[in-house]
Amino acid sequence: MTRATTAFTRHAGVIGAPVRHSLSPTLHNAAYEALDLDLVYGAYEVQPGDAGAALAGATALGFVGISVTTPHKDAIARASDDRTRRVELLGAANSVAIRDGKSLADSTDGEGLLDDLARSFGFDPSGARCAVLGAGGAARDVVLSFADAGAAQVVVVNRSASKAAAASELAGDRGRVGSLDELGDFDVVINATSIGLLPDREADEVARSFAANVRAGQLVVDLVYRPSRTLFLELASASGARTRNGLGMLVHQAARQVEFFTGLEAPIEVMWASVEREATS
Ligand code: NAP
Repeated sequence: MTRATTAFTRHAGVIGAPVRHSLSPTLHNAAYEALDLDLVYGAYEVQPGDAGAALAGATALGFVGISVTTPHKDAIARASDDRTRRVELLGAANSVAIRDGKSLADSTDGEGLLDDLARSFGFDPSGARCAVLGAGGAARDVVLSFADAGAAQVVVVNRSASKAAAASELAGDRGRVGSLDELGDFDVVINATSIGLLPDREADEVARSFAANVRAGQLVVDLVYRPSRTLFLELASASGARTRNGLGMLVHQAARQVEFFTGLEAPIEVMWASVEREATS
């Protein structure tokens, strides 16, 4: 980033721990430069327990907004002055817009995924049968987004049954807990577990059990983007599924944050170009 800052420059940034791996500064700064805004975006390592103080500080400093990653999503949902319906339902936020000293929390991950699937495959979630593997924060956001977009069924498959039930409830009467052996019945299968993040023998076994149940022609997504091709995606692709990693979701959730913070249309192609070397799925 070569833009000079002045006494007029405004600020935004991502808080998390760890945060140094984050692509958010790359994505956001590319967008603000293309929009010709005097706005810079940084990355801030904030320790567990300090999220509320970080939000208060960002508000006092006149930040336009903050992005929020692990482990602060729940704390920021509580600490914000106001929150969208999505955040009320999820109990977690990945972004906060700050206007006139007031903070409004939102969650853009699931909608970012749907934006990417629409852009890359022309996928329309309305009436679709969707399976979500996992029931953590990302899975819950995806379940809610599919339901809000009119999916016919949203089935959650997860190691911990109680978390699966809680996540499936976000889809109301179109949600239920399911099992791996029915994965082939769905139009789209989203792996929202973290098994692809740090592959080891146990995670590889789980990936094989997931992939054994997908079929040719299905749309199969892994929310992980590092590595760009998880074992699950490799195996699903070998079965003839159409596959996608999580990089597009990352780009599009950031684009929604840019719009949330600035009120301007995000320059999506510029944002894609800023992380293009990662886009190998
Ligand atoms: P999380 O809240 O920690 O949830 C992790 C989920 O993975 C839980 O459902 C957990 O099951 C399941 N899991 C973990 N290890 C497992 C194993 N060995 N076998 C079976 N299930 C296992 O994490 P999260 O925040 O939802 O994130 C999930 C993934 O999405 C991560 O890989 C993250 O990097 C990715 N993500 C991507 C984006 C993007 O923009 N592309 C955005 C957000 C998240 P239990 O409930 O049984 O523990």
